Amino acid sequence: DVTATKGNEFEDYFLKRELLMGIFEAGFERPSPIQEEAIPIALTGRDILARAKNGTGKTAAFVIPTLEKVNNKKSKIQALLLVPTRELALQTSQVCKTLGKHLGVQIMVTTGGTTLKDDILRLSETVHVVVGTPGRILDLASKGVADFSEASTFVMDEADKLLSPEFTPIIDQLISFFPSERQIMLFSATFPMIVKHFKDKYLVKPYEINLMDELTLRGVTQYYAFVEEKQKVHCLNTLFSKLQINQSIIFCNSTNRVELLAKKITELGYSCFYSHAKMLQSHRNRVFHDFRNGVCRNLVCSGKRRDGSGIGRNRKMLTRITLYWRLDLLTRGIDIQAVNVVINFDFPKNAETYLHRIGRSGRFGHLGLAINLITYEDRFNLYKIERELGTEIQPIPPTIDKQLY
Ligand code: ADP
Ligand code: MG
Repeated sequence: DVTATKGNEFEDYFLKRELLMGIFEAGFERPSPIQEEAIPIALTGRDILARAKNGTGKTAAFVIPTLEKVNNKKSKIQALLLVPTRELALQTSQVCKTLGKHLGVQIMVTTGGTTLKDDILRLSETVHVVVGTPGRILDLASKGVADFSEASTFVMDEADKLLSPEFTPIIDQLISFFPSERQIMLFSATFPMIVKHFKDKYLVKPYEINLMDELTLRGVTQYYAFVEEKQKVHCLNTLFSKLQINQSIIFCNSTNRVELLAKKITELGYSCFYSHAKMLQSHRNRVFHDFRNGVCRNLVCSGKRRDGSGIGRNRKMLTRITLYWRLDLLTRGIDIQAVNVVINFDFPKNAETYLHRIGRSGRFGHLGLAINLITYEDRFNLYKIERELGTEIQPIPPTIDKQLY
């Protein structure tokens, strides 16, 4: 299953026992998707650029690794959590204090609007983690009151706001107070151009995470072709010969069928990778990586949908990632445009899977073609999905305008 949740537990991250206690006492039973993505990477010290919707647990995603890495025997500032507003600073420091309750880590919050004197006094004692807003932090740093020379962790929450023009000069200066060996983590709900500039300037091989649920069928022309099961391969062959495929992804409904189809496609003389749930994750990662890099034109996979394991019972988590989407998100520039055709060799059982296979991240707005092979049994499903998604899936015409994809 290319889209499966990782199903991790907080215990899997080898966190300090005291930190785990804080996490569980806060009522967190399992990591949320953004936490699953971010925590293990953050613990390795790698720079991170993470994007996920509001309410998905971003705070703990950076607070947990930050706290884990603090050495409380060392009386130095080891991390800065920078946020754009006072309220958020208070809230974030509260999360630090709750999760770090048993760790003996000293957390300080500082924002504009309080007296500098209090901060100076506070900083004369041990502080391990500073949470604050840009102006005040820069003030403290440039006055030599707050020493960030051993702060190896620098987090920017709501990074899009922190990198708005009013703040960028401050951030630039602030970074100069950090050691050159530092980990920078950016969390945000949007990545405007300015974030990209910052990334290119300061981040070192950042791990990029994108969990925005913005799949849309806009820009995707959807067709169906009625076929019998045994004609499917023949039909696919025809499509390959007629379409101008840049890269394609072909979905089957089972791992067996993925392997069989990949073999058939290869026999037909087309280059083809495959990936399915029964393969080792490392192997699958390599397949995606190579596919993204254009090593191969076609990718066959089984794309069941990924269910968001929610935060709390009622919260609908925005967590679903599909392979297709991932391809969009983990890549930039020409890679994003590379997949221009998606084929449902096996028609999915429900609208959600359909959307996740075919839908694109709207922001990129590229055109694409989706072709569904529909057997007699799939008929009603086709109508149902069409209605549910309020979209139109048309019969495939004899020729398809290249302008559409
Ligand atoms: P974001 O920054 O993405 O908007 P927050 O970090 O503010 O989201 O978290 C939203 C809510 O989810 C908070 O009330 C937080 O306590 C809760 N939360 C975060 N992680 C978990 C978890 N793993 N399990 C349960 N609740 C969580
Ligand atoms: Mg937040």
